[in-house]
Amino acid sequence: MKNLKPLLCVADIDQLAERLYPICRSITGEGVRETLTILSEYLDLSISEIPSGKAVFDWTVPQEWVVRDAWVKDPEGRKIIDFQQHNLHLVNYSAPAHGQFSLEELDQHLNSIPEHPDWIPYRTSYYKSDWGFCLTHKQRSALKEGVYEVFVDTQFKDGSLSLAEYFVQGKSQSEIVIYSHCCHPSLANDNLSGLICCTALAQVLSKQQPNFSYRIIFGPGTIGSISWLAENQAHLKNITMGLVPVLLGDSGDFRYKKSRHGEALIDRAVERVLHDRGLNCRLEDFSPYGYEERQFNSPGINIPTGRLSRSAHGQYAEYHSSADNLDFISANQILESITVCEDIVHVLDRNVRLLNLFPHGEPQLGKRGLYGDKGGSKVGNWEMAMLWVLNLADGEHDLLAMADRSKLSFDEIYSAAMALEDAGVVKRLSSRG
Ligand code: ZN
Repeated sequence: MKNLKPLLCVADIDQLAERLYPICRSITGEGVRETLTILSEYLDLSISEIPSGKAVFDWTVPQEWVVRDAWVKDPEGRKIIDFQQHNLHLVNYSAPAHGQFSLEELDQHLNSIPEHPDWIPYRTSYYKSDWGFCLTHKQRSALKEGVYEVFVDTQFKDGSLSLAEYFVQGKSQSEIVIYSHCCHPSLANDNLSGLICCTALAQVLSKQQPNFSYRIIFGPGTIGSISWLAENQAHLKNITMGLVPVLLGDSGDFRYKKSRHGEALIDRAVERVLHDRGLNCRLEDFSPYGYEERQFNSPGINIPTGRLSRSAHGQYAEYHSSADNLDFISANQILESITVCEDIVHVLDRNVRLLNLFPHGEPQLGKRGLYGDKGGSKVGNWEMAMLWVLNLADGEHDLLAMADRSKLSFDEIYSAAMALEDAGVVKRLSSRG
C-alpha cells in the first residue's frame, strides 16, 4: 500500500501550498495533471481523462492548452513582460502569436488594474481564441511609443480534460459531493486553499466510516464540473447534497452561500456549525453565479449544493490578481477552515430523527438517573436538551431542527439524545433529516 503524506499541521500545509503555487494550471493540460499527481501523494485519487471534442451536455470538452513560453520585447529588444517570471503575465489559454505590434495595437491585448498599480491581474480567454498579456499598471503606464515584438509559444492539441476523485464509502449509499476547482495558475486563496482543505477533509474521512458516503472531486471550473456531471448521470440519483469549499485561506470571516433549495440539509448543517462555533459569519442566499455550485444547483441536476468560503467570490481586492499569493493566505486559517469542514460532516453524520417511546406526558427521567434530583433548582442546559429532545422526538424533527428550536447547540442536543436512546426512552428512526 502506498505511503500517503499527512496534511495535519501548518508545516504540511505550507509545504503543499508552496509546491502547488508555481504551477501554470488551466482548464486542461499538464498543469492540472501535475497538480493532481502531487495531490495523489496525499490521497489515493482515481483520475479520469475525458477526450477533447466530447460533447458534455451543452458544452464540448476543449482541446489541451500547451504553454512553452511567452514574452513581449520593447522597441530596444528588452524582454519587458515574461511568462517565465510570473505565469499570470500571459492571459490563460492564449492562442499562439508572433509578430511586431505598435504600442496602440499591443495595448488592445494588455490587461492591468489601475486601482492597484503593482498587481498583475489574472485573465483567461477560454472560449474565445485570442492572446493577451497581463502586467502591473505601473509598467503599462511607462510603455513608450514604438514597435514591440510579441511571442506567444502556445499550442492547442487534442488530448483530454483531467478529473480526479476520492470516494469514501459510508454506511449508506446516499452521497455528499464535494467539489474543488483546480484550474487556476499562481493564485493562492483561489484556488489552492480549497484544494488543500478538500484534500485534508478527504484524509480525515478516509480514516472514518461515516454514515453518508462522500465523493471529493478535483477538476477544472465550469467545464470540469459539467463534464463530471455529464459522465456520471446514472450515478446522480445517489447524490443528495453537495458542498463547494473555496477561498478558505484568507483572514476574512466565514460566509456560506445557501443552495438553490435554501433549507436543504447541507444548508442547515453548515449554518448550525458556524453558529455553534460562535464565529462571525455571513449567510448568503443562493444566486446562480460563482463556482461549481452553479452546475450542481442547475434545474436538471438539482443537487442542493452550498458554498463555504471566507472572503467573498470576486469581492476582495486581491481576487484574481498576483496579490492573491502565498502571503495572502495562512496555514492557520486553512487549518481552521478544515476543522469547520470536519464539523460539518460530523454534524451531518450524527443528525438523526428519533421517536419518543413514552410520549404520553413526560417520561420519568429521575428514576433513570437522567435528571438532577434537586427539585426546585434551576434547570440547566442538559435537562433542557433532554426535554426538547423528548418533545420533538415525534419522528418529524431531526436533531438539527431540535437545536434550532431549543437554541441549544447541536452537541448538547446530540448528547441528550444519545443518553435518552441508551436509556431506552427514544428510538432512532433514521439518520436522514
Ligand atoms: Zn477564480
